[in-house]
Amino acid sequence: MSDILDLGVKDIRDGVAKGDFTAREVADAFNTAVAAASELNAFIVTTPDHATAAADAVDARRKKGEDLGKMGGVPIGMKDLFATKGVQTTAASHILEGFTPQYESTVSQNLWDAGAGMLGKLNLDQFAMGSSNETSYFGNVSSPWKKDGTNAAMSPGGSSGGSSSAVSARIAPAATGTDTGGSIRQPAAFTGICGIKPTYGRCSRWGVVAFASSLDQAGPMARSVEDCAIMLEAMAGFDPKDSTSLQMDVPAWEAGLDADLKGKKIGIPKEYRMDGTDEEILKSWEQGKEWLRDAGAEIVDISLPHTKYALPAYYIVAPAEASSNLARYDGVRYGLRDLPDGAGLQDMYAATRAAGFGDEVKRRILIGTYVLSAGFYDAYYTQAQKIRTLISQDFSTAFGECDAILAPTTPTASFPLGENQDDPLAMYLNDVFAVPASLAGLPAMSVPAMLNADGLPLGLQIVGKPFDEQGVLNAGLAIQQRAGFEAKPEKWW
Ligand code: GLN
Repeated sequence: MSDILDLGVKDIRDGVAKGDFTAREVADAFNTAVAAASELNAFIVTTPDHATAAADAVDARRKKGEDLGKMGGVPIGMKDLFATKGVQTTAASHILEGFTPQYESTVSQNLWDAGAGMLGKLNLDQFAMGSSNETSYFGNVSSPWKKDGTNAAMSPGGSSGGSSSAVSARIAPAATGTDTGGSIRQPAAFTGICGIKPTYGRCSRWGVVAFASSLDQAGPMARSVEDCAIMLEAMAGFDPKDSTSLQMDVPAWEAGLDADLKGKKIGIPKEYRMDGTDEEILKSWEQGKEWLRDAGAEIVDISLPHTKYALPAYYIVAPAEASSNLARYDGVRYGLRDLPDGAGLQDMYAATRAAGFGDEVKRRILIGTYVLSAGFYDAYYTQAQKIRTLISQDFSTAFGECDAILAPTTPTASFPLGENQDDPLAMYLNDVFAVPASLAGLPAMSVPAMLNADGLPLGLQIVGKPFDEQGVLNAGLAIQQRAGFEAKPEKWW
């Protein structure tokens, strides 16, 4: 049965439909693999019964000759930021430990309606704040990859680090992620898998624990571009319960996949050649250009002049929104309550929040409340919003000259857990190539390109025009076909 674990979304869905194996056999194989991989710490809770019940339902439908759905028979991991009815949902924070939602997020419901089942709730950086999966209350997540010749536990990236670790370790064929400023793309790049953040508004935010609402987007993480296209189709769609949901039909992205890029122009932003970017990352970028040229695209130089302001603007806008969103965790209605003896309401708020939030979350709340405070609002928050507009305008201008943009996903490969933990600024730099597309709400994808000299994966990023997920996926497919990335982490867990 071990070969089932190597199968992706499309292989499993099509194999179940053809009767090569049952959905139940698939669920059993992945449930067993998940149970045996606790050393990765990728899951906060496992839900084998959810996976088998969904699988049995798909097998029963097949017997009756009914449609099995876009994801029929595919068990997936669910980032623990999505509310799942009756299953603990924590955002990897002590403050939500034991919280069991009475409702299901729209994205997870869409996936269950499409025939998928849930292996468990995946670990993440606390409230999705982080780039290494070291801020979770439930412990660090390890990447299945190791640097050649060393045994140090490596970061799977963050914040969707449980998702990237599980998918690259082949204990889940695919997983959900969320991306506020890179949290799908950076972990995908660190672990040699694919991940796409769609256009802002494609996937409903309803039932997703909010971090920075004007940036948060859900998306799929899987080992191929095709699998991402399939899963994104199942996840996306208009939702009246999310006021920023796009009122647009979901395109047939899977059917539209086409790696022939003849007539397409791919832009190379000169501002992304930044000091401190790893030589091998720059080499992979050069290689990416060659691959896209080989696929028929014309490579053109473009300029995104405000790029250098994107990271500072992001680290004002995102904490500002977070400080507002996280005000609801007060110990009154759900989650942790810390009520010291004889304490009043204010003391309870303070004690609950002091005990419940981790250090990085507190840092963001401090930054956020500071930049929103009366005396500093204009100097920081208003200024950052203006920069956000300029960054969007940079992209609009650039898309007058090209159809999509190619850039590295990250400035470095994965690093050992612990290495950047005490240096928030070094950690924030991980997002330098990811946040511009987030601020502009654009679809962006990371696709594995190659292994570096240490045997660690490197990813390439494609950023597309608004609503052009198809163009992003197609360029990703062209890279995938030429990169031939088949490397697998050696099993040690
Ligand atoms: N690493 C970034 C941060 O810490 C992005 C997080 C995310 O996209 N959720 O804010």
